[in-house]
This record gives sequence, structure tokens and C-alpha cells, in this order.
Amino acid sequence: LSRSLKYHKHMAIQPIRLFGDPVLVTPASEVVNFDKELRQLVADLTQTMQAAPGAGLAAPQIGVPLRVFVWDINDELGHLINPSLDLSAEMQDGEEGCLSFPNLVYETPRSFKAVAKGFNMHGEPVVIEGTELLARCLQHETDHLNGVLFIDRMNSEQRKIAMKEIRESEWFGVATEGGKSPIVKVSPHSTFGLGL
Ligand code: ZN
Repeated sequence: LSRSLKYHKHMAIQPIRLFGDPVLVTPASEVVNFDKELRQLVADLTQTMQAAPGAGLAAPQIGVPLRVFVWDINDELGHLINPSLDLSAEMQDGEEGCLSFPNLVYETPRSFKAVAKGFNMHGEPVVIEGTELLARCLQHETDHLNGVLFIDRMNSEQRKIAMKEIRESEWFGVATEGGKSPIVKVSPHSTFGLGL
């Protein structure tokens, strides 16, 4: 018990950066040091994702420009550092949300299967294979690390609809240079479990 309390004491929910914040369109850097700070980052990302709640979260979404992301899919928590992806030619249809675009969910084409190679927080090589939602998540989060957003993956018609709704959103335009995004109140189920 004391051990878990100690762990919790050091964890912190971070504000999630919103579309418009420059950190979201900036490619993130490779992790070089697999140290205590990295483990803290994974813990913060995990806690922030669970509080949102969301199914995935990438470090740039909390303002940290490093190649790290976490997920919580099919009751399994995971994290990956410095990922590279192999994608199936077979595609999947389906809706997708992003915690940096509160309350919005859109049809976003993705590969059906993804194989992600990278490292865990201890610097050990890992391979994560996913289909359906996990594959979608691995693609969405790796995109975040490259400064690519889900609106960039939509077909042009869907993107047009999305951009109109984004511009009309209450939260749009509040992200500021230097990343002092306000905390936006959203329904806990606003992205239907699809917030990534
Ligand atoms: Zn996202």
C-alpha cells in the first residue's frame, strides 16, 4: 500500500494541448536517455490519459516534444518509445477521436494492422502488434510524434466538414503560443472512448 501511495504522490495529470498549439505540429525528438524522467513522463501520460479518459496519448499532447506514447485498449495499458511502424495494405473504416480536439469524432481511414517496433521505458526493444482499434491507436499516436494530426488522414470531404466543426468549437482558438492551453470541460464520454 505504502509503495503504491508513494508512486501516486509523484504522478501528475497534465493539461492536454489543443489543436492550434504549435507543439502538435512539430516533429518530436528521439528519446536518448532511458532514465527516471522518462519513467515519470510515461506515468504522467498514463494518468492524464486515464483521467481524460482516452484510449491513447502522445507526449507532444502534454507539451513534451519526445517520441513517447501510451495507450489503454482492451483493458491493457501500454507504452512505446521511439516507434517505427509497418502497416498492412488492408485498410479499416471507423471513427476516431483525438484528445486535442475535444468532443469531435470522425471517419478516419487507417491500416487494419500495424506492427510497431520500439523500446519500453527501460530501454528494452519491444514489438507491438495490433489490429482494429490498437492498430488505429498505434498509427494515430505515431503520427502525433511526427506532427501529423488525424485531420491530415481524412479524405478531403470529411476534412472539410471537420474543419468547419473545429472552427465552430468552443475550445478553438484558445490554445496560445508557449502552450498555456486552458483546461476545457468536456463530457467524460465526449469521444466515445475513441479519444487518442
Ligand atoms: Zn490525438
